[in-house]
Amino acid sequence: MSNQDRRTAFLHEMGLGPVWSQRAAVLQTLEHEPVLLMASAETVEISVPVAAPVPQQRAAEPTLSAWGDETPAAPATVPMTAAVSAVVKPASDVANMGWEQLKEVVSNCTECGLCKGRTQTVFGIGDQKAKWLFVGEGPGRNEDFQGEPFVGPAGKLLDNMFISMGLKRGENAYIANIVKCRPTDANKRDRPPTAEEVDACMPYLQRQIALINPTVIVALGKTAALSLLKLDPATPVSKLRGTVHRYDEIPVVVTYHPAYLLRSLKDKSKAWADLCLAMQTYTARENG
Ligand code: SF4
Repeated sequence: MSNQDRRTAFLHEMGLGPVWSQRAAVLQTLEHEPVLLMASAETVEISVPVAAPVPQQRAAEPTLSAWGDETPAAPATVPMTAAVSAVVKPASDVANMGWEQLKEVVSNCTECGLCKGRTQTVFGIGDQKAKWLFVGEGPGRNEDFQGEPFVGPAGKLLDNMFISMGLKRGENAYIANIVKCRPTDANKRDRPPTAEEVDACMPYLQRQIALINPTVIVALGKTAALSLLKLDPATPVSKLRGTVHRYDEIPVVVTYHPAYLLRSLKDKSKAWADLCLAMQTYTARENG
């Protein structure tokens, strides 16, 4: 099976059809259009390819499309604006730690109340020199039990998203969460972390980002996006998608959390458009 066939199969697994692929040859010949990225104190101009992914016809007659009668529109252009960069100030003691010390400190951390309910901390996993960083919200029940982010059905979907992008868990991709301990409500159900819990745990993620220094960050869901970008908690994900934000100097693309996509099949096509934007941004920065 060729790489393209594998990619097609995994996109099918994600419920995405028709299959889209970037026109590599066209991308190489297209003019690059300047895109203005707004930093906190300055405006930076970078060059981003403007070609959109192009739907391909499946070889076999498709059955029911995951998005029904509504074929998703390809992102015609990379957005022309970007959000204000988050200010990155990891706590000074954490900011100087290497991987092993950081892991050790996190595993014993009692900086917020989430330490009381955890089975174990979930530090993160993957290639410590990865060019892709995926950031989720926090561990759920399965993750708390296994000590690894994104396991179970949402993890399987994330793995399929990776493969559709030519990535693989553990190879050139790192997965982390905003908080390292599982947040639960009074009934032991998963819940989003509070602002205080996010603030307590962010220095660890900030240090992970500094150590990895990825080319692109993909924020998976609202909590990840708002925490990384330090935006108003009332901001809906729909307002964050389709725009290249920045964390320090690193581009951030926002998409839906895989667990949400499992419940909302119609938004899988939007998620694929987000991943296409992330891949375009990655290519532009790597070639930049
Ligand atoms: S969530 Fe983060 S800050 Fe809170 S106890 Fe766990 S590791 Fe420490």
